[in-house]
Amino acid sequence: MSRGSESLVNCASCGRRVPRTKALSYSRFVTYSTDLKTADDIRVSERHKEYYCPSCGKHRHIYDKKKAQMMKKYNR
Ligand SMILES: [Zn+2]
Repeated sequence: MSRGSESLVNCASCGRRVPRTKALSYSRFVTYSTDLKTADDIRVSERHKEYYCPSCGKHRHIYDKKKAQMMKKYNR
């Protein structure tokens, strides 16, 4: 690759490759748990970062979600 300065990311919705600068990043927390309901229950929270192309971002209301996340952050 000659111009490797711009990294591409895969849209999490349609799989299209978009430049990271144009992609919409949306991070959410995913909680994995063993669901044992005992003391041995293991819960792991992971920050999951996903990228969406602009059209999917609009389509899937990522902008609204991001806004809601920001609101939550500032209200705390
Ligand atoms: Zn897409």
